[in-house]
Amino acid sequence: MARRGTTLKPFIAGNWKMNGRVKDVAELVRLIGYLKRDKPRCDVLVCPPSTLIHAFRVRLKGSPLQLGGQDCHGEANGAHTGDISAAMLKDAGAKWVIVGHSERRRDHGESDAVIHEKARAALAAGLGVIVCIGETEAERDAGKTLSVVGAQLAGSLPEEAPARRLVVAYEPVWAIGTGRTPSLADIGEVHRFLRRRLEIARGDEGTKVRLLYGGSVKPSNAREILAVPDVDGSLVGGASLKARDFYDIIRACPK
Ligand code: PGA
Repeated sequence: MARRGTTLKPFIAGNWKMNGRVKDVAELVRLIGYLKRDKPRCDVLVCPPSTLIHAFRVRLKGSPLQLGGQDCHGEANGAHTGDISAAMLKDAGAKWVIVGHSERRRDHGESDAVIHEKARAALAAGLGVIVCIGETEAERDAGKTLSVVGAQLAGSLPEEAPARRLVVAYEPVWAIGTGRTPSLADIGEVHRFLRRRLEIARGDEGTKVRLLYGGSVKPSNAREILAVPDVDGSLVGGASLKARDFYDIIRACPK
């Protein structure tokens, strides 16, 4: 069996959310410049809003950065106004897609079953999938963190996903965009729990699924969070919008 977590190549993903206009592609160009001089030791993914996917794709040619979408529909095409399918993202140059972000769960009422469907559609389209899970503050206060994330993991993850195309992001809802983070011990406890659950469900493959922490990761705390056992990278929101901050987080990856 692979050694837990630590042998996996770190994965740093930037989620721009509903931010960014054409002028902001300059931040991506700056980031590419930094990484040209200092090659990343980890996989790096950028997930712009759909309106910028093409502009990102053009700039990313020849760079080690990968392109991702922030969400996809569970079907390949059809009458779903305003939605984008995984096949469309792939066609536009994406390699990965995020599903089940807590903002989608909250704003669009997405259930584990819906997220499961989206993740399956992403795999069927040939994309890798980042499945997000995480407890609310009330759930943490009630001591329900592990049962909540355990149920989300069981309900949202497609069984057939190969480890190299599956990433799980643990993002406590109360830590997203708030500047607050769990203690390193609390992050470690959840990641250990998720690793164990993945091992039980998937055997050796479960040791190879990368587990990201997300929620208020910034240059000042990235190094210590990325050093927690079974934390194989990070999903970064706000700090991914600024090339310098995102680059500093990428550089904080363990050697
Ligand atoms: P944040 O967002 O880094 O701005 O807290 C993280 C996320 O939602 O993925």
